[in-house]
Amino acid sequence: MKRMSNLKYHFGIKFRFYPSDKQKKMIKQNYDAQRFVYNQYVGAGRLIYHIKNASKVAQVNSSIPFMMKPMTKYEINQAQTLLEAQELIAKHRNIRDKYEFLRAKEIDSLAIANAIQNYKKAWRNYHPIGYGKPTFHKKCSDWSYQTNCTYHGTEEAYLDNGSVRFIDTKHVKLPKLGNVRISGLRPLIKDRLLKHASTRIGTVSIKKTADDQFYLSLQLGSDIAFTKKFAKTKSKIGIDLNLDNFLTDSNGAVVANPSFYRKSQRRLAHAQRILSRRQRRAKKEGRSLRQAKNYQKQRLIVAKLHDKIRRQRQDFLHVLSTALIKNHDLVVAEELRSKNLLKNHALAQSISDAGWCTFLTMLEYKADLYDKEFITIDPKFTTQRCHHCGTIMGQNGYKKLTLKEREWTCPVCHKEHIRDWNAAINILEKGQGIWSNHTRMKKAA
Ligand SMILES: [Zn+2]
Repeated sequence: MKRMSNLKYHFGIKFRFYPSDKQKKMIKQNYDAQRFVYNQYVGAGRLIYHIKNASKVAQVNSSIPFMMKPMTKYEINQAQTLLEAQELIAKHRNIRDKYEFLRAKEIDSLAIANAIQNYKKAWRNYHPIGYGKPTFHKKCSDWSYQTNCTYHGTEEAYLDNGSVRFIDTKHVKLPKLGNVRISGLRPLIKDRLLKHASTRIGTVSIKKTADDQFYLSLQLGSDIAFTKKFAKTKSKIGIDLNLDNFLTDSNGAVVANPSFYRKSQRRLAHAQRILSRRQRRAKKEGRSLRQAKNYQKQRLIVAKLHDKIRRQRQDFLHVLSTALIKNHDLVVAEELRSKNLLKNHALAQSISDAGWCTFLTMLEYKADLYDKEFITIDPKFTTQRCHHCGTIMGQNGYKKLTLKEREWTCPVCHKEHIRDWNAAINILEKGQGIWSNHTRMKKAA
């Protein structure tokens, strides 16, 4: 049987499921266990780092290098703690051996293995990607844990013969939890299930949102494509993401920021004001938030609103990205330099609101899925360059365009530009590698 990484096509699906009260309790138990194990690793890792660092400092400061002084009681203690911490995270098994509740029959051993893997992944992301060091996971009202689908002694992996498997199009069997009813399965997956198409299930995430909806996310892999490829259109397009609208393309079409967003945002701000008022009141009266009923009710309203906004935005981004990939063979966008952009706080807020990062990720995987091309380019000069003659504003004595100038006229070829449209054309041309200065001017002369 092929491993996930050796399969040609990958596809993620997400749908709702409806656990019983007993199953909900088990989900919570596994979420707690996964968080506990992750935090144990974070704690042990920090301890090891600090003790080692302290001993290095002691060595450097001693007058005779490499000389071993007799250890103080404190140092012996530290060394003991260090050994214990190293021992704990040396092997997967050790943490289960140490804590009895992790060996309860309701606990999925793969949930624990995933906690350790997530910890290691956090370290892998730390250096190259510039994420922070792994930190403790807080307890929160949306739970989630990961497990894996395993296959035993079968030649071929299907949707219905692993440890996570579809009973039919309405039910899934999960490790430890047993059977759950599901809804919202995509027709193309139903189709695969009924046709018995060879498909492997990989990582499985079990999630509960703050407003108590349960979701399953499955990573699927197969050598049979999940979707039909889109027909070639011979069309190419550049897109400029900006703050005035969601995007402007190289044909001059503008996609406005969706209006639902501002509306929901107002409602959210209002709901959050009520929430913080209730929090203050509970605090003043000396009640714990857990017992403050009105606060809890409002917390749920806020969580639901957040969820609604997230879903609306997700829908908008899906529809738009699919349309772009379907109608064009090549889509070019600028790469988002998040570090530079985040320096400007107002800009950073709008970028995360607009979901540009998510949007570009969608374009990337959809291009892959439907056999189209999507590339990103360095945004340098895309706004300042006249696409008609290649003059770059801000160079050779020409005044640099400011953010305010929405329309401008090229001082050399006198072409009138709409800023974002011109930028989108530049992005498309840069993506195709046809960015030589003054080519058209020379032709005209
Ligand atoms: Zn020009």
